[in-house]
Amino acid sequence: MALVSRHVPAGSSADAPLVVQGITVSYGEKPAVFSVDVTIPAESMTAIIGPNGAGKSTLLKAVLGIVPRLSGSVTVFGEPFAKARRRVAYVPQRASVDWDFPTRVIDVVMMGLYRELGLLGLVRGEHRKAALACLDRVGMADFAQRQIGQLSGGQQQRVFLARALAQNADLYLLDEPFAGVDAATEKAIIDVLKSLKADKRTVVCVHHDLATVADYFDHVLLINVRKVAEGPVATTFTGDNLQKTYGGRLAAAHIDQLKLPVA
Ligand code: ADP
Ligand code: MG
Repeated sequence: MALVSRHVPAGSSADAPLVVQGITVSYGEKPAVFSVDVTIPAESMTAIIGPNGAGKSTLLKAVLGIVPRLSGSVTVFGEPFAKARRRVAYVPQRASVDWDFPTRVIDVVMMGLYRELGLLGLVRGEHRKAALACLDRVGMADFAQRQIGQLSGGQQQRVFLARALAQNADLYLLDEPFAGVDAATEKAIIDVLKSLKADKRTVVCVHHDLATVADYFDHVLLINVRKVAEGPVATTFTGDNLQKTYGGRLAAAHIDQLKLPVA
């Protein structure tokens, strides 16, 4: 018998942290995401950019299997998502989380360790220590015993990032991690994301602030239901592609202010 070969040369895109092929999602008659292909390179920081309602959150949810896909496939590090889900951490858009029962910050972070804790959920001292270390990385260790619902939006966002860190994932998917946070929190979050990249992890963020794309990210996906463009920020994040993504909704003057390379 011949050995089974996957015919995948090292470093090829088939082993990429995330490969999405032909994803279409619809909540009703019109698709929210239509036939989108994406290949996220290893150890990159990718921004997903597009206007409100462009399907950015839906795309992440479809990758994670939170919303059903009409068509398309997803592989994570060359495997079907279901097999590789342990390697993926997700931080949802903050507004989508409603804390109507009291939960302590430390317990939110412990949720990131559940798979390690097992079904019994026995919390050992070392797990608590690991959760505290993750809170420390986002500057929230002093808040471990507080109720999550009593924190500011920016503080909650840091706690969700700490939970994702506790998962020790290889691929981090974050939905607008900088939305509505103050400058100090933004700095704390970007520092953690950059340290993840330095640690050879892959980071994908839905991102709304066009002014920080070039500073924060090296890869970009521009989407408006359909994919408009994808590639390195230096060559893809251009005024021309932004016009195609936002249509008339983005003033030319605003694009000028970004001082982008001419396509
Ligand atoms: P974005 O994150 O880019 O702002 P979304 O992915 O949240 O966009 O939404 C894409 C489209 O799908 C929007 O028109 C939105 O109203 C619609 N939509 C999102 N979630 C749902 C849902 N659960 N049920 C019905 N429509 C939805
Ligand atoms: Mg969204």
